[in-house]
Formats: sequence, C-alpha cells, structure tokens
Amino acid sequence: MAIASVNPATGETIATFEPLSNADIEQKLQKSIEAYAINRARSFPERAALLLRAADLLDRRAHDYATTLTTEMGKTIKAAVAEVQKCAMVCRHYAQHGEAYLAPERIATDARESYVRFDPIGPVLAVMPWNFPFWQVFRFAAPALMAGNVGLLKHASNVPQSALAIEDILREAGFDAGEFQTLLITSEQVAPLLDDERIRAATLTGSAPAGASVAAGAAKRIKKSVLELGGSDPFVVMPSANLDEAVKTGIRARIVNNGQSCIAAKRFIVHEDIADAFEHRFVAAMNALRVGDPMDEATDVGPMAMPQIVNDLEKQVDASVSAGATLLTGGKRLHDRGNFYAPTVLRDIPRDAPAYAEETFGPVASLFRVRDADEAIRLANATPFGLGASVWTSDDGEAERFIAGIDSGQVFVNAMVASDPRMPFGGTKHSGFGRELGVYGIREFTNIKTVWIAKNPARNDVKREAAE
Ligand code: NAP
Repeated sequence: MAIASVNPATGETIATFEPLSNADIEQKLQKSIEAYAINRARSFPERAALLLRAADLLDRRAHDYATTLTTEMGKTIKAAVAEVQKCAMVCRHYAQHGEAYLAPERIATDARESYVRFDPIGPVLAVMPWNFPFWQVFRFAAPALMAGNVGLLKHASNVPQSALAIEDILREAGFDAGEFQTLLITSEQVAPLLDDERIRAATLTGSAPAGASVAAGAAKRIKKSVLELGGSDPFVVMPSANLDEAVKTGIRARIVNNGQSCIAAKRFIVHEDIADAFEHRFVAAMNALRVGDPMDEATDVGPMAMPQIVNDLEKQVDASVSAGATLLTGGKRLHDRGNFYAPTVLRDIPRDAPAYAEETFGPVASLFRVRDADEAIRLANATPFGLGASVWTSDDGEAERFIAGIDSGQVFVNAMVASDPRMPFGGTKHSGFGRELGVYGIREFTNIKTVWIAKNPARNDVKREAAE
C-alpha cells in the first residue's frame, strides 16, 4: 500500500511519502539503541517530567492535531479532539503511576532478601492501525517510555502525517535522542525488522492476519509480542434494562469512530420480550443520524477511512441480505464523493451470513432475538473474537452470569465498552493476547527479574579461628 494521506471525505490526495530505504532504517535502529541507553539511565521522575510535557503539548494543540486526524482518516472533529485529549490523559497517568506500577515487589522466602523487579527490555516495534491514529500509539508509547524502553513506530500507510506528528510531540517534550521514532515503511518492510536482534519485542494493533504475521515473525526470533486485534462485540439487552439508556448507548457504541472501532458494539442480542420495542427505537435513532462532513461539529457519522472499507461493508451487507437477512435501514453508499456508507440495521441474519459473526468495520448493526440469558451467552460467544461485551440488565445475579459466561477480555455492565488508562485492555481468542494500559500494560515489555540474596554464609575464617 502506498504511504499517502488521502482525505476520505473528498478523495483528495494531501501528501505522499517514499518508504524509508534500508540505509535509513539502519540509521534509525542504531539511534534507537543509543537512545535506549539514555532512557534506561533516566530516573522515573525524569521520564515522568517528559511525559507531562508531552501531555501539555497535546492539550495545548488538541484542535490542530485533531484536524490532522480528521482530514487524514475521516473521524468527526469532536471525536478527534477527544482522542488527542485522551492521549494527554494516558501520558499523565503513567507519569503519575508508572513508578509505583514498576516498584520492586518483595516476596517472603528463606532468603535474606527476595524480590521481583521490572527492568526495561530495549527497542520495541509498534505496528499500529489508522482507526485511532494517536490513541493506539500513545497507549503503547507512554508506558513503554516510562518503563525505560524506546519505541519504533510502523504506522498504517494512510496516516503518515499523524505518525510524524507523534514523533515530533515526543521529541519536543524532551525524548530527543531517538527514544521514539517513526519509520515510514510498508508492511513488507516489517519482517526484516522482526529478524533484527536489536528489536527486542513487537506489539501490533490491527487485523487478525496482520497480527498472526507479526507474532510469527517475532516468535521465530524468540521475541515477545502483544496483539490487539479485531472484535465482533455483543451488546446484550435483557428485559430489566433501562431501555432508553440501552438504545441511546447502543447507537453510540455502534457508530463510535464512524463504526470503525475494534470495541464498537456490532451484534445486538436482545431478549424477545423487549425486542420489538428495542428494534423500533434503535432503527429510528440510526435513521436520524447525520452523515456528512467530519469537520462539521454537528456530524454524527463521517466517511469510512478508505474506499476499500466501503467495498467490504457493501459486500458483507449484500451477502447477508442475499442469504436471507432483512434490511431494516441503510444498506447503501451515500453522497457523490467520499467514502460514505449509510447507518444500516440488519435482522433475521442466518448463521452462515457475514453479519452473523464477522467484524463489520462501519456503521452496520446486526440485531438478534433470544429467549433467555443462556441463549444470549451462547450467541455472544459464537464468534472467533473475544474482545469486549456490553450487557444491559438491572438484575445483579443475571449480570454475574454474563460476566462469568462471556468469553472476552472485558465485560461492561450498563455501559459501553471503552478503554481507560487505569484498567487493562485486551482480548481473548482471535482478538489477541497480552494487555495494554493499567499496571498489566506497563509490565508487558519488562524483564520480570527474580532477585534472591541469600542469608550471609558463616565466614569460614572466623570458624577456623574459633576452633584453634
Ligand atoms: P491492518 O490492515 O491489520 O493494519 C494494521 C497495521 O498492520 C498497519 O500498520 C498495517 O500496515 C500493518 N500490517 C498489515 N499487514 C501486515 C503484515 N502482514 N505484516 C506487518 N504489518 C502489517 O488493520 P487495519 O485495517 O489498519 O485496522 C483495523 C483492524 O484493527 C480491525 O480489525 C480492528 O478491529 C483492529 N483494531 C483492534 C484494536 C484493539 O485494541 N484490539 C484497536 C484498533 C483496531 P499498512 O497500513 O501499511 O498495511
């Protein structure tokens, strides 16, 4: 894929970039090793001060960076501002808590002293997606830098300006020795990097095929990887739920980021007693959404990031309708130019139709009816993914059954699934492995080092003297 910024609302090419040569990459790798020595030697308060400066820069220029995000990948400007502010939040979170998260843990044994410490491991390669061009990167970069590591970013080919902006922010904040470098490279240039001994680990956020490829490349060289992959999250609504709230949040959860979020609610699993009422309100609310210019504050749904995404949605929806699904609204492209797709709702979806279990990366909702909680849990788990789940009920016992029964990395009750710097984030099954954020996230790329200091041995010379 060419490395280029193309405005998804207009189709206009804003900038194109040549991929780095092998010599350029070599130079950046070398710089990264030197920067690792510098960042590793910094104290936690020193690293924290740099992250706080990055947070201030993000807050101060939130609207400028948001404009880059919106023109490059089409998210609405209000969502883009919120994303940049969330990046400031994650920098502040790790500046404030990173040292405590990595504090040595004493463990009582028969040693004089025994504990676990968390040492940095070196340069980590981050392969990142376009859907949250700043957030996905900062939620990796802030803990990595705080732990004493350094990062090399291979961003998605359609967000090069965001990638360069992130490098600039961290450099300006004081990580100015190459602690965080952007590599404008193609996905074909990733494998040789994974082969390079100087790269100590890899993290990928993106699709399952890309994740499998990067994890396999890392494993061949005995390197750790963290994978944050796709999802087809269930949104379960039971009769005791507050229906107004469930519908309102369900819409937000489906169209977050124009529908292009791994943790967007994609399959709405509704108890049959309230299914008609839910469907009626949900379809009306999807119909009322404003689709259009993402720079307009009043827009609810902007364009899809790339023409291919609209093609994929169209194929999934058309194939589902051909297989027998009922189209309740949408199901078509909108506007003369730009990658716009109408908010769409499907019902009566057969098991073999794409909308039954696949990830739909756009504003397409699949509705299902179930008889009881057991059937809801079975259906919630009937996908290869296991990222998040949202469950709506006011019965605590029922909520517990869903929390235990749904096979996913996170379950939210009476709320939409969202990432939070304080809580770990990640998936099971084809949604990946490893965790980001919180205490678990910062420890992923550390050497969990066991230290054992034996009790002082009796000194031989003293014993000998006593015997004489
Ligand atoms: P993608 O095609 O997998 O791309 C993600 C990144 O991987 C890009 O930088 C891409 O580079 C690179 N890449 C692709 N194939 C590769 C390969 N064989 N080897 C090395 N690198 C490779 O995914 P996407 O379409 O950008 O993102 C959408 C997917 O990401 C969805 O499935 C979504 O659910 C998932 N996602 C998951 C999370 C999470 O936290 N779990 C968060 C956000 C998104 P190029 O752009 O150059 O191809």
